[in-house]
Amino acid sequence: MKKLLVLTSGGDAPGMNAAIRACVRIAIYNGIDIYGVKRGYNGLIENDIEHFSLMNVGDIIHRGGTILQTSRSPEFQTPSGFKKAIDNIDKMEADGVIVIGGDGSFRGARELAKAGVATVGIPATIDNDLQYTDYTLGFDTALNTVAQAIGNLRDTSSSHNRANIIEVMGRHCGDIAIHAGLAGGADGIIVPEVSNSMDKLCDKIQKGKERGKRHHIILVAEGAMTGYDVANYIKLKLGISTRVTVIGHLQRGGSPTVFDRNLASKFGSHAISTLIEGRTSRVIGISGKMIFDMDIDEALEKKKVLDQEMYKLAEVLSI
Ligand code: ADP
Repeated sequence: MKKLLVLTSGGDAPGMNAAIRACVRIAIYNGIDIYGVKRGYNGLIENDIEHFSLMNVGDIIHRGGTILQTSRSPEFQTPSGFKKAIDNIDKMEADGVIVIGGDGSFRGARELAKAGVATVGIPATIDNDLQYTDYTLGFDTALNTVAQAIGNLRDTSSSHNRANIIEVMGRHCGDIAIHAGLAGGADGIIVPEVSNSMDKLCDKIQKGKERGKRHHIILVAEGAMTGYDVANYIKLKLGISTRVTVIGHLQRGGSPTVFDRNLASKFGSHAISTLIEGRTSRVIGISGKMIFDMDIDEALEKKKVLDQEMYKLAEVLSI
């Protein structure tokens, strides 16, 4: 193993920089030359690739975003784009590629592996929508951003006797809404995985109001309903004042939490070991405290399911 490439792809997530840093430093520590590919798979196609030294990854462990930049690359999914990428990898005589990204990026990595390129994926997506791993990079940081926002909104909500509806990311996966909702003491959590009864939620808000509750915090994952639809329903049914906050891309940025930084370092280290030990077409994950690698097909086949225990606990605590 002499030469490796590392890239970040798809939606960015806090912790990507810490993962790049770990890959570069562990590779150099093991005497391997490592190159950073710019803008995801587009950089492979356009040969936008830079040799990395220790200095290239200094002062980035605490920064959100990705120094390599990222992109969505439709061209990579065309036969001619894919061939250009493979030709550039061959020309460089690279021994492997590390792909830091989410589900879509892993599908791209799987295509590279099928074409004979040694490939390892590091999961990084704020949605935490990959079933095979307990956590993806960026999820914990996004949760902390949302929890901070809930705290701020709670202050103003109780001053005005309002219902605050907070729309968070999660098109198919309600993990951000559930985990941040539990941490922020939400009165209601609406997620795409559960068919929600708006009437039941309104009853709960009404009962809270009757016993003197002055704030009502509702978390809604974007894939379930819009925050505005939830607010309109509550306003029509209960006649109470509502405010909607769409947290949007604020969730994607910010300095990664200690959890995300350290997870990124462990993932990066395991990714390099996986390649050195000759395993390919793998993705890295965490189960409990254990960092592991798994076949990419097996990982992608696992359908994301709702964390029933967390959801139930949040429901009970918001009685
Ligand atoms: P994420 O990794 O955040 O889920 P995307 O779904 O946008 O992001 O995927 C990132 C990129 O991965 C896409 O722009 C495309 O270049 C590549 N990709 C996604 N799906 C496939 C696929 N089935 N085959 C090959 N490449 C893919």
